[in-house]
Amino acid sequence: MRLAQIVKDERRPRDFDPREYISTWTEKDVLHGKVVDAWVIIFRTRGCYWAQASGCSMCGYVNDVAREVSVADLTHQLDAVLKKHTGQPMAKVYTSGNFFDDHEVAPEMREKILEELGDRCDKVIVETLSHLLRRDQLDAATRHVDELEVAFGLESTDPRVLRHSVNKVWGLDEHARAAALCHELGATVKTYLLVKPPFLTEREAIEDAVRSGHDADPHSDMISFNPVNVQSRTLVERLFRRGEYRPPWLWSVVEVLERTRDLRAHVKSHPTAGGMVRGAHNCGACDRKVMDAIEEFSLGLRTDFRDLDCECKDLWREYLDLQEFMLTPADPLFVLEG
Ligand code: SF4
Ligand SMILES: [Zn+2]
Repeated sequence: MRLAQIVKDERRPRDFDPREYISTWTEKDVLHGKVVDAWVIIFRTRGCYWAQASGCSMCGYVNDVAREVSVADLTHQLDAVLKKHTGQPMAKVYTSGNFFDDHEVAPEMREKILEELGDRCDKVIVETLSHLLRRDQLDAATRHVDELEVAFGLESTDPRVLRHSVNKVWGLDEHARAAALCHELGATVKTYLLVKPPFLTEREAIEDAVRSGHDADPHSDMISFNPVNVQSRTLVERLFRRGEYRPPWLWSVVEVLERTRDLRAHVKSHPTAGGMVRGAHNCGACDRKVMDAIEEFSLGLRTDFRDLDCECKDLWREYLDLQEFMLTPADPLFVLEG
């Protein structure tokens, strides 16, 4: 498929010190109905095998990875990052790839990470592609942590969107299988869905996210909507530079959250680079207010967005119409004014 090659050609992995973790910080999240501090750790690994083979159209993670990372390197990263723990009861572990890929995180390393974090935190969240998860791995993982959550980047439940927009070849079937395994072994499931992958109009993107949320709900404890942001060296960036892609409006994210309030799963969204030109944004004047409202909604501190308004909401509605009329997912404002 040509898309697969184009996505791959955009990537420029750089050389990094394999002994240094990528980043760590603390953010707010919800644990047992209460807002708590969550400790985010991003380990440096060889990265996602799918990113190296081809990769998702919006994902620039591969640019942060090191070519090879040994168990000794990862142990060094772990020892260094453990010193940064300040009592957060929840840890979120990312690797710019797949925690359950044995070639990326060796089984003994995986157990060591979970053991150390399980000693310090009540809940640990790890991320992986659904088709990589095996029973024996999960069985071993759940032994070290009181509450384990596995996050999967499902992105969309529409096979055509996965294939032609995201460039991902696993969908709801693989997700449902992995989710059933998690539930059987006592882990919970977090599902990531995209808002506005490339080549979709704003309206199509809203409908895709809402539909995907409902499809994924029976297999999810948490659904997190990720508005696409423009990362370096991705297909999305290439389109963005040509005015053929605009990250979603925050009003679109709000609509998705409003229309998935009926889900059984907890629904949230933390727009990366929200309010900035490369992230989900509105007119500039209302972005902070809308971002705060989305954050409050995600933490369970508000249930609707009825109090929000801005002059740009009319422009957003016109934008939805205009794209349909022009039969293009390109940015009409760029076409008309750019
Ligand atoms: S989005 Fe996830 S699965 Fe896709 S290339 Fe990036 S790390 Fe890999
Ligand atoms: Zn506005």
